[in-house]
Amino acid sequence: MAKIPRLMPQHPRMFRAEVVRTARVSPSMHRVTVTGADLAEFPWQGYDHWFRLFLQLPHQHRLRLPEFTGSRWWQPYLAIPEAERPHCANYTVAGFRPGAAEIDIDFVVHLGPTGELEGTAAIWACRARPGDALALLDQGVLFDCPRDASEVLIAADETGLPATTGILRSLPRGTVGRLIQEVPTAGDVRDLDAPAGLTVTWVVREGGTSVPGTAALGELRRHTSADAAGYAFVVGESALATEGRRHLHRAGLPKDRITFSGFWKYAAAQAA
Ligand SMILES: Cc1cc2nc3c(=O)[nH]c(=O)nc-3n(C[C@H](O)[C@H](O)[C@H](O)COP(=O)(O)OP(=O)(O)OC[C@H]3O[C@@H](n4cnc5c(N)ncnc54)[C@H](O)[C@@H]3O)c2cc1C
Repeated sequence: MAKIPRLMPQHPRMFRAEVVRTARVSPSMHRVTVTGADLAEFPWQGYDHWFRLFLQLPHQHRLRLPEFTGSRWWQPYLAIPEAERPHCANYTVAGFRPGAAEIDIDFVVHLGPTGELEGTAAIWACRARPGDALALLDQGVLFDCPRDASEVLIAADETGLPATTGILRSLPRGTVGRLIQEVPTAGDVRDLDAPAGLTVTWVVREGGTSVPGTAALGELRRHTSADAAGYAFVVGESALATEGRRHLHRAGLPKDRITFSGFWKYAAAQAA
């Protein structure tokens, strides 16, 4: 198993960009393709390469970005007066074409109880028009598989689908293991470029009212023993990430062989 070359960059680089086009790629996923003068130089590593997305909101006159050196961008970001501060959210590179200097970003479309669109970034994505300004701050990859991993176990909800798509595409073709991927509807199931020895299990939530991530966690819990020499990557709603990690550790996987990340929090979503 090849070790992933680079995690968090020491000097993350900011890339200014603008929207080229948008498309609804599945019922719950809206793709925004962006380009920029230096976007061809984005140091893409494949896998789940992610970035901080800075968005100009309707009431803002221009996209003002934090000025910083090194890796400390957060304080300069907060120092921007609120009326001029761009919205910031975390997203994954869904596709990168250096020849065209284009990056695809897949936004999960969140609908509220009465069917209204929710989430600042998703609302921006669904309204985006060619020429709209944004910026991407490179953050590297989370996937951190040891070279000697015997198998790879991945579980995610729909916010992790761009990441799992990229990971499966990037993994050495001899990799064995399993992906458990939860999606809101059957229409969100997509073709994945997976190694032949990696089984893909789609868990479709359709019609159900369960909290996103719960169904993937249920499927993961049916995995009663995990090879101690394996590696796992569990991302999505906060409970899927933390409970998934707890379960896998109990099932035999050492903690330092599990990467887990709460991509968003359901309780916070309900309170907003
Ligand atoms: C490393 C990383 C990579 C990520 N990559 C992607 C990606 O490629 N595509 C993607 O869609 N997401 C991705 N996410 C998740 C994304 O960052 C969150 O969903 C985030 O909340 C969206 O930002 P926002 O500013 O719109 O949310 P906010 O404006 O803070 O959210 C406000 C409201 O939006 C709604 N909301 C937000 N997220 C969700 C959700 N997932 N489900 C239901 N309702 C929600 C809720 O109503 C919430 O109250 C990633 C997260 C991380 C940490």
